[in-house]
Amino acid sequence: MADAALPGAEALAEVLADVRRYLGWHRDVAGEELHASMDGALGAIAAAMSVEVTVEGSSNPPVVVEYAEVATEVALQPVSAPVAAPARVGASALPAVAPARSRIAEPSRTSPGPAVASDSGEAPRLEEVRRALGDCQRCKLCSGRKNIVFGVGNPKAKLVFVGEGPGAEEDNQGIPFVGAAGQLLTKMIAAMGYTRDEVYICNVVKCRPPGNRNPEPDEIEACQPFLEAQLNAIRPSVIVTLGKFAAQTLLRTDTPITRLRGQWREYVGIPLMPTFHPAYLLRNPAEKKSAWTDLQAVMTRFPKAGS
Ligand code: URA
Repeated sequence: MADAALPGAEALAEVLADVRRYLGWHRDVAGEELHASMDGALGAIAAAMSVEVTVEGSSNPPVVVEYAEVATEVALQPVSAPVAAPARVGASALPAVAPARSRIAEPSRTSPGPAVASDSGEAPRLEEVRRALGDCQRCKLCSGRKNIVFGVGNPKAKLVFVGEGPGAEEDNQGIPFVGAAGQLLTKMIAAMGYTRDEVYICNVVKCRPPGNRNPEPDEIEACQPFLEAQLNAIRPSVIVTLGKFAAQTLLRTDTPITRLRGQWREYVGIPLMPTFHPAYLLRNPAEKKSAWTDLQAVMTRFPKAGS
């Protein structure tokens, strides 16, 4: 096992992590078979290249970087500068070119001012938002629902996914994205190197539209303050919107998803990446490639801490 200079080891670890995610995407999301030989080859290469890393000037013992540990063991030193705070609140577009690779940092931002107040005067916490939603009767969707599907995941998530609205299975369980589209979303999240528990997942509307129809404007309008309050409570570093309704609602635009997807935007100062809805990807598997490109842009701009 050879000693290695840190920059080389870190670069290797990043490449391996990227390749592993890429293979994971093809295997789990795209359902392609190329991983079988590639993954084995990758493992062999990584094993052959296992390195013992010592950080110059550090009294810590050397760290062995192995293929299997790439995701967790290589955060040996901070990388480059944090993401610059967005200049304007509500700015509609960020440069199409992604800025330099950087660790996730809290964006400086201003509250969207949702109609959910907290006792303390600060941004309401998620449980306060849920309490304010109560046994919601604010729109007609309340009459057909079994459960309000508020959201799941890490209340301090750096990465938030926003979908459209619950389907039958989500309505039954009260948990977003647990049906067929949800299983694909779970794989997409895994391909990005996360578990569902590490991110936060919610929808534009919290109650199931009957027959899985699209949410109507009055329903979106009634629910929007709660979505905004959720985002304000979490203050993620980056939002991924899934499908047309989430992107159009948060960006307050009618632009079609085919034009929005893949382009960095902002929601009250938070970088937002619109991509296709997993239900659409199930119907149009050829578009998975575009979705992967969108998620890669997110991973490149906001690498998971410790990866
Ligand atoms: N589709 C969505 O948009 N949200 C869900 O929770 C499930 C399916």
